[in-house]
Parts: sequence; structure tokens; C-alpha cells
Amino acid sequence: MSKKRNAWAKFKTRNRHVDLRGPILHDGSHQKKDIPYSQYLFTKHWIVVRRLALERANHRCSICESTHSLQVHHLTYDNLWHEYANDLTVLCDSCHTMLHASTGR
Ligand SMILES: [Zn+2]
Ligand SMILES: [Zn+2]
Repeated sequence: MSKKRNAWAKFKTRNRHVDLRGPILHDGSHQKKDIPYSQYLFTKHWIVVRRLALERANHRCSICESTHSLQVHHLTYDNLWHEYANDLTVLCDSCHTMLHASTGR
């Protein structure tokens, strides 16, 4: 196990208690910053939240269990900056595209 992995395991343990009852990660300011979703996807906040969602899903698509080209999909955009675990789902590229096509978003 590398040093990096160890640090990550500790981080997960520390944050386990917030898993379903509260936001995965609170951005320091608690303020909704008005930036386009396309830019949101490049924020440090999202990178951490996204990684936690992938860990939680064991790096598998929630529909077909593929482990390739995984993306984290927002089931709701209401909680940007303070997502709850259940606001997110992990999908592979093709299931993600299919889902957006079927919901029209
Ligand atoms: Zn899939
Ligand atoms: Zn999506």
C-alpha cells in the first residue's frame, strides 16, 4: 500500500460519519458560488466529492457494473457545493449518455 493510499484511507475513515446523514463535503464558505456547471466540474470541491462517490460505488457503473470510463452523475443539482451521498450516482460513459437521453437533460 502506497503512502497516498494510506492517506486516502484515513480521510475516508474520518469522513465516514457524514456518509448519508449530511453533505459529503462542505465547501468552507457554505456559499453557493454562481459558476457554470461546466466550470464546477473543475473545482477542487467537485474533484474530492467525485472521488468519494467513486470509492463508495467501488468504481463500478451503478447500472451495468462496467469499470471503464466512469463518470459521476448528479441525480439532483439542488445541492451543488454540499452534495449528499444519495445525490450522486456512478455511471459509465454509455449508461450516462443513455440516462441523459432518456431524461432529456
Ligand atoms: Zn454502465
Ligand atoms: Zn449526468
